[in-house]
Amino acid sequence: MSDRYCIRGCLRRGEHFATCDRHGENYKGDNPCAGCAQVDARDGVLICERCYRRLRRHLEDAADIVGHLRSIADPTKAAAFDRIRVQSSSIEIPAPVAADLIDASNDITTTLNMWANHVAGEDRPGAGLPAGAMADAAHAVVQLAVDVILDELDVLANDSHQVDALCDGVMVVHRDAPDVWTVADAAVRWPLDDAPRWAQAACPVCDLMAVRVQPGRNGRPSRYRCTTSDCEWEANSNDDGGLWASVFAEPTPPEIRPHDPSLLTLVDAARLVHREPGTVRGWVKAGDLEPHLGRYREADVLAVAARKRGEAA
Ligand SMILES: [Zn+2]
Ligand SMILES: [Zn+2]
Ligand SMILES: [Zn+2]
Repeated sequence: MSDRYCIRGCLRRGEHFATCDRHGENYKGDNPCAGCAQVDARDGVLICERCYRRLRRHLEDAADIVGHLRSIADPTKAAAFDRIRVQSSSIEIPAPVAADLIDASNDITTTLNMWANHVAGEDRPGAGLPAGAMADAAHAVVQLAVDVILDELDVLANDSHQVDALCDGVMVVHRDAPDVWTVADAAVRWPLDDAPRWAQAACPVCDLMAVRVQPGRNGRPSRYRCTTSDCEWEANSNDDGGLWASVFAEPTPPEIRPHDPSLLTLVDAARLVHREPGTVRGWVKAGDLEPHLGRYREADVLAVAARKRGEAA
């Protein structure tokens, strides 16, 4: 058990310190405290499980998000925009590139490169994106930094001088236009289209059927996130000993898929036992051979054929 609390100041909803008015049963007063008991830190680090998982998720998504921003910004169109404007005013002018897209992708890249430098023992500013960087190049730059940071995440998250700044730089969402964009800022404004599906099991915290499953990509594990406001539980398929991968596994459909290579077509089944397809079809119609969506198990075909040979003898 950890004896430390989340240094982000996370509190337990509905749970109170002994010194709080609302502590104990049957409180009738008007103290509005929604919960003042602190959340334990995750083992080995200074932030709670929820903060840790959120930080990790934003880091894992950073390269995709920056690539996404650059692809929307499309620097090739930005260049064309300048050219068209000086050449002719009668040509339809594409919408100008939103400065926010450029600022956000540049800020995120600068922040993550700075952290990657720090991990490498060099405390110097991080490089931003070259003007007009294409989406794939931007993605590669950020992914390189993120891989370094994720590899040291537990060390950074256990460093009291670093963890707050890392969280602030990555997972804080600013209400207005940010001075410095975080990954989370970009993620809420230009969300990635991950095509998540609804899980078939309830959230382990709030017990509602509100968990979205996002399949793993880029070699990352699958993710499970509760969408209930206030809950915000999340985990990936490696957390807690891989427990959630089995809890939220896609239920296997009961029927056998027709493309299952171990199943034979009618013609192949007939060929296997040196009969005419019409003969095998007759076995199926007579209920001697069980079909599986129009295909047949090899063992079944052999058994029926053997029995028919016995009957014919
Ligand atoms: Zn309280
Ligand atoms: Zn926390
Ligand atoms: Zn929940």
